[in-house]
This record gives sequence, C-alpha cells and structure tokens, in this order.
Amino acid sequence: MEDLEKYVEMLERGELSISKLDKVLGNANLAALVRRLFIEKKIGKTLSAIASTILDFEELVGRNIENPIGAVQIPLAIAGPLLIEGDYAKGEFYVPLATHEGALVASINRGMKAVTLSGGAKVKVIKDGMARAPVFKVPDVRTAYELVEWVKEHFDEIKRVAESTTRHGKLKEIQPFIMGNNVWLRFVYFTGDAMGMNMATIATDKACEYIEKEFGKAQCVALSGNMCVDKKPAHLNVLLGRGKYVVAEAIIKKEVLERVLKADAKTINEVNERKNWAGSGFAGSWSFNAHFANIIAAIFLATGQDAAQIVESSMGFTWTEVRGEDLYISVTLPSLEVGTVGGGTRLPTQREALEILGVAGGGDPPGTNALKFAEIVAATVLAGDLNLLAALAAKQLAKAHERLGRGKK
Ligand code: NAP
Repeated sequence: MEDLEKYVEMLERGELSISKLDKVLGNANLAALVRRLFIEKKIGKTLSAIASTILDFEELVGRNIENPIGAVQIPLAIAGPLLIEGDYAKGEFYVPLATHEGALVASINRGMKAVTLSGGAKVKVIKDGMARAPVFKVPDVRTAYELVEWVKEHFDEIKRVAESTTRHGKLKEIQPFIMGNNVWLRFVYFTGDAMGMNMATIATDKACEYIEKEFGKAQCVALSGNMCVDKKPAHLNVLLGRGKYVVAEAIIKKEVLERVLKADAKTINEVNERKNWAGSGFAGSWSFNAHFANIIAAIFLATGQDAAQIVESSMGFTWTEVRGEDLYISVTLPSLEVGTVGGGTRLPTQREALEILGVAGGGDPPGTNALKFAEIVAATVLAGDLNLLAALAAKQLAKAHERLGRGKK
C-alpha cells in the first residue's frame, strides 16, 4: 500500500496520468486501485461500494474499459415464465432484467402472465443485418452516380475484401445514397452471434481502402457517415432495419384480460390508438409504443449489450385490434441490435444472465443464439407494452408506482 501511495502522489503532482498507470504498474487491477485511491483522496471519501467487485480488470482493460476504478451494481431480477413460439426460442423463459425502477419488473411479469396464459407470444425475425455507412466525397453528381454503378458492378470483389477481416461476417448488400457530391454506401452484414458493430466497422474499413484505390475518384471522408445509423434515433433504420427486424404478437383472451389485467380489449385498444398512435404522431415522436425503452434497457444492462444502442433498439410500434372480445397485440422492433458474443457479453454476470436464457456464446450454427435472443427480447417487450396499456386502461398506473416505486406497501 505504501508503494502505491507513491503513484497516488505522482498523479497528484501531475507527473503521471491516470491512463498510463496500467503500463507503469504492469497490472490493470493495481492500476484501478491506485486511480481509486487518488480519487478518494481528492474528494475526501472512501469508495468502498465502488471498490467491491468481482471483475478482473486484467481481463477487461484493452477490451471493455479504460481507466477503471471499480464497478457499479444494478439490481438484477427475473420475470417469467414467458411462453414463446419463435423459430429459435421455443418454450418457457425466465428473463433477466437489470433495473432500479420500482414497478418495472412487476409490470413486465404481469404482462408475461397474461401472454403465457393466452397461449404465448409468436415471434418472427424478418431481417438480420448490421449496417455501417461510410461517406465518400466525389467531384460532382455524375461521378457520384458513376461510383454507385461501379460499386454494383464490383460487389463480388468488395465482398471478398471486406470478408477477409472476419470468419463470421458476411456482406449481404451495399445500399447507396447520393446527396449532391456526397455518396453514402450502407454496408449490411450478417454478423453471426455478434451484435457486429466492430466486425462491420473493421470489414468496411478494408472495403473503403479498396474502393478508394480501385475507383480512384472518391475519397472516404468518414468511415461512419451517420447513415448507418448507430446510436441515434432515425427513421432510416425503421424502414431498412438494423440488427434484427423482429415482430412479436399474441392474442390475449377475454378471461385473461379480465382476471390478470383487470381491463377489456376495447379499452386497451382505445388507449393504444389515442396514446401510442395519436399521441406519438401529434408529438412528432419517432416511435409509437408505450415503453419499449424500459424493457430494452433492463435486458441490455443485464446481458452486456451496448447500452447506447438502447436509442435505436427501442424504436418501434405497438399495434392492437379488438377480435371479438379478445385483444390482438403486436410489437415491431425494426432495429434491435443484440449479440451473445463480443462486447459486454463476456463479463461474468452478463454472461450468466445470457445463460439463464440458454443463449450465452456462439450458436450452432453461428447466428442462431443471437436470433433466439432477439426473439426473447421482442416477446418480453410485447409483455411489457401490453401490461402498461392495460394498467392505463384500468387507471392503475399511478397507484402501482406509488406502491412499488415509493416503498408504500
Ligand atoms: P467483437 O467482440 O468486436 O467481435 C466479435 C468477435 O467474436 C469476433 O472476433 C468474431 O470473430 C468472434 N466470434 C466468435 N464466435 C462468433 C460467432 N458465433 N458469431 C460471431 N462472431 C463470433 O463484437 P462486435 O459485435 O463486432 O462489436 C461489439 C462491440 O462493438 C461492443 O463492445 C460495442 O460497444 C462496440 N461498438 C463499436 C463500434 C465501432 O464503431 N467500432 C460502434 C458501436 C459499438 P470473427 O470476426 O473472426 O468472425
């Protein structure tokens, strides 16, 4: 400890930077400790809660984090069982949810009960592809058009170059867009069980080098030209899809609506129309749903997904219809970006959360674990949105939050 004090003092005097500690000490866990001691001294408080972690930073620095000092903990719950009939997810699942929003897990849990008692959620992945869209500068619009034609003619060579960087990544298509003398080439890849953003970026970089060299009249200005669209809400992803484009649906029976959700099909349908469609449309919202982001965030945090992609992964639509006295409900998520390998999925607690669902690591064949996971996420979102619509229909929302969010039992 005395030895470490020496490094804290060097940090204080500005003789050493916090980012150099791992190299200087030759150990990422010691470096994390020194950084924490430095901050503790600076603020005059001990950070014993942040210090308390099972994480081995030797494993994580250089892959998942820089400058670590410890970890934050988020409570983890399960909700279920949820009966799912997908192409990959079949049977009953207990879904891990990380949140500190009281009432959220209870809400999803009740929605799952209603879906399961009604025969389960049917789920279908419509499209699967991760996008990266570099922007190219060309002299004029004729050259822009020429570039797009050239890319179409040379697709096989570009695909070979891009795929040389990865065993699992497969270039599916290149979607071109022209604006003035700017050209975006939206590369779409199958990325196996990985969410695929690093994979797609590395492969596209190689392809861009090839295009610049072989076409000769285009300069790649930015490897990400924002038509991807990563970590920003955009209607482009809704129309073209990004990651998994997935739909989950169920028919909730009259007796289940009454007994479990304390509401009827007509009222829930009206809430959906006036809230999710009229309200969202009038507000100029990108999404027409009740609270996809709540469910997506809780699953993403539990399972090591990229949290910033909650932005586009939670875009989507809830559609309802009255069928006799039953309720048809579907959720459509056009841009669900999930993986079961890579990124944060390798962290120990997050990996165990994926194991609860039986989707940790690579699938056999590759890609099937990520597809199964996407189906489970969509079915959980269906349960979550159903329950909130029903709670609003039965005027229960505020009461539930008072009871479960403010500790008033
Ligand atoms: P990754 O961990 O960078 O790549 C996945 C790795 O797993 C590859 O090395 C792949 O090998 C390997 N792999 C083994 N089995 C696989 C299987 N069954 N399916 C697919 N791959 C398999 O993960 P990523 O999903 O590409 O990228 C996710 C990370 O990117 C996250 O940390 C995220 O935060 C970050 N991110 C990056 C950017 C960016 O612009 N670069 C943007 C947003 C997020 P092969 O490649 O040889 O197949």
